[in-house]
Amino acid sequence: MATINRNYKKLPGSYLFSTIAKKVAEYSAANPEADIIRLGIGDVTEPVAPAVIKALHLAVDEMGQKESFKGYAPDLGYEFLRDVIARKDYEARGCGISADEIFVSDGAKSDCGNIQEIFSLDNKIAVCDPVYPVYVDSNVMAGRTGEYDDELRRFKGVIYMPCTKENDFAPELPAEVPDLIYLCFPNNPTGAAMKKERLQEWVDYANKNGSIILYDAAYEAFISEEGVPHSIYECEGARGCAIEFKSFSKTAGFTGLRLGYTVIPKELEAGGEKLWPLWARRHGTKYNGAPYIIQRAGEAVYSDEGRAQVKAQIAYYMENAGIILEGLGSAGFDVSGGINAPYIWLKTKDSMTSWEFFDYLLAKARIVGTPGSGFGPHGEGYFRLTAFGSRENTIRAVERLKKLS
Ligand code: PLP
Repeated sequence: MATINRNYKKLPGSYLFSTIAKKVAEYSAANPEADIIRLGIGDVTEPVAPAVIKALHLAVDEMGQKESFKGYAPDLGYEFLRDVIARKDYEARGCGISADEIFVSDGAKSDCGNIQEIFSLDNKIAVCDPVYPVYVDSNVMAGRTGEYDDELRRFKGVIYMPCTKENDFAPELPAEVPDLIYLCFPNNPTGAAMKKERLQEWVDYANKNGSIILYDAAYEAFISEEGVPHSIYECEGARGCAIEFKSFSKTAGFTGLRLGYTVIPKELEAGGEKLWPLWARRHGTKYNGAPYIIQRAGEAVYSDEGRAQVKAQIAYYMENAGIILEGLGSAGFDVSGGINAPYIWLKTKDSMTSWEFFDYLLAKARIVGTPGSGFGPHGEGYFRLTAFGSRENTIRAVERLKKLS
């Protein structure tokens, strides 16, 4: 008789975003005229940049010609893309990452979820709390955690590292040493960034204790402040303790095209074993690669034209972030984030829980956001707003929120 992986049953049945969708559908059915503004979306809304579209068309035409047609992509990704990433994302920042340490993928979510496969099940993980739920969920599915504790609202056997107002939403070094440390900066959902000196402390801690840092830099392109590292490899010694994930999704509007990459330095080891060959083996066996046309589209993001267009999109979203931050801040709301990331972290009004505030905003302002408690126990009492809406809707939403203050 076939049986299931029981670890899947440890996950709460309903995913955060499906609960939100259900609540909004119910509200819309009861209030068909309501003009709802969505400031909860974690997806981009600007179309793919013209330089990228041009590259897609060219690559599609190549696929129709016998001389230029491409079949399966190389396991690690095409050299033309890995080379330009190595030069522009790493060499230009003095990071010393080479093209053969870059593994092109179909997005950071797959890699963040799958990387745990190359580590033993008895590794203990640590996560920022709150954070993007994929790190915990994928470890739960693998069987690296205990059951979910309904009362504490966390999984047993996981080190949750509180990110609070008191520590500027960047965690303290944990007293209990984890084997695998997931760090996500700039952070989803808080929008907080970590300064280089602080990240260096993490690198030193990991090197001292033999831990591996899994660094999610999906929002790197949104960094606007000096002194905030764009890559963990800007820190000394990071090659000896860190893996980095990057995504084209928010940076260049690739959420529907799917492209990302993971960096594993050649000498990086866990328990005396090199990690690069394990991930390469996984790519050779369990991964189909990102399509040629998408990798050509990714290459176009690094052309002068592509870079200028993509930067303009990021600037547009970050102007939205500024409008939310300034508008709500001046109206007396407690807001943070929004400077190095497209996320604004808002304290709920009158000590409401995150879900009470969700219902309140929907009913009183017809605004949809994301309850902070969905990202971890320390997200309770907070709410995430995003800058991915249109300018018009962002301004209208801020006007409505101001009236509530
Ligand atoms: N990492 C973080 C922190 C995210 O917030 C997201 C998407 O929201 C991802 C990774 C997923 O990236 P991708 O679209 O490349 O799979």
